[in-house]
Amino acid sequence: RSASSVTIPPPACMLRPLEVPLRYLFGPGPSNVPPRVLAAGAKPIIGHLHPEMYEIMNDIKKGIRYAFQTENNMTLSMSGSGHAAMECAVFNAVEPGESVLIAINGIWGERVAEIAERMGANVHKLEKTPGNYFSNKEIEQAIEKHKPVLFFLTHGESSAGLCHPIDGIGDICRKHGCLFLVDTVASLGAAPIFMDQQNIDILYTGSQKALNAPPGTAPVSFNDRACHKMFNRKTKPVSYLFDMEHLSNYWGCDGKQDRMYHHTGPVSGFFALRESLAILAEKGLEESWRKHKEVAAYLYRGLEDLGLKLFISDKDLRLPSVTTIAIPDGYDWRKLLMYMMKNHRMEMTGGLGPSVGMVMRIGLMGYNCEKSNADMALHALADALKNCKKSKA
Ligand code: PMP
Repeated sequence: RSASSVTIPPPACMLRPLEVPLRYLFGPGPSNVPPRVLAAGAKPIIGHLHPEMYEIMNDIKKGIRYAFQTENNMTLSMSGSGHAAMECAVFNAVEPGESVLIAINGIWGERVAEIAERMGANVHKLEKTPGNYFSNKEIEQAIEKHKPVLFFLTHGESSAGLCHPIDGIGDICRKHGCLFLVDTVASLGAAPIFMDQQNIDILYTGSQKALNAPPGTAPVSFNDRACHKMFNRKTKPVSYLFDMEHLSNYWGCDGKQDRMYHHTGPVSGFFALRESLAILAEKGLEESWRKHKEVAAYLYRGLEDLGLKLFISDKDLRLPSVTTIAIPDGYDWRKLLMYMMKNHRMEMTGGLGPSVGMVMRIGLMGYNCEKSNADMALHALADALKNCKKSKA
């Protein structure tokens, strides 16, 4: 054999076929993707700047406007996961040195506070332990004190299983000249949100939860107030990839005739996102909210019948897509989760960030949101409780 210029051989794993197990994704996401959405993602690639792609992107914008209940022109999808939308919102709406107020009652507020700190904002935190929420009065007092340019709140706090009330907060922000930024990654499609009616200035979500698309795209929308602030900045946003001057052109939101190359969007990811938004449009938002609530209520009853305690005691504050249970006394939550994965091919998860060790999480979202799946989850949990020896007496 002639001497090869290649000194690193092909890795043995690459010579084996790809294997992906079938799993019941009953954790906080990603959730299982319906065949129709998978099929959309498997369609042939076209150029990201072809007219047909622009049409598909225009459809996506309309689908997001419906899902968010907004008429905002500045509505598009990030090429990236929910974190891309979090960073896009903060990087564009806030300039270094400006004050922001972040509500923290779980990991998502912590994350946004860190993102804002990293880009040089003056970060103020309004904090509660996971499972708790902020009254409008508490929010208004903190806004009066810190005079932020932006207030951040998580609608569906997936690490705690809490669905935060939204009514009235947009008006408070407006009164005090601050933008209202809301995270609906875990709640969109599962719990009602009305971007325009609730005076939310910036809203984002993710593709992989109740929308049931693969991870990797993240819808976001900015209203005129948010656009006014972000397009009249003194400094350029710290990120080129997430700069809304460029993204608004790429998505045909800036009124210009020509769309210029900025980055190559995830073409297959957009196909899948379009299909998932189409399913939501066909089903209807109200029906989707109703179904999540109904299946969640069914799950709560089953969990209580197993002797488990729901982490959020007030039913009206529970997030219908992600249910949290208190870790049953004396059990090692890691063992319970491992048992279900091994014996039932089922994912549930523990807490995240400040809720680690406090909760176990069960997600039944979108396509997975069926009573038959709740039954499977309850059966697996009952089996795990029976078979995982208590670690403490
Ligand atoms: N916000 C919330 C409420 C979430 O549940 C998640 C994902 N678990 C994110 C933000 C971040 O999304 P991603 O993992 O897609 O970056």
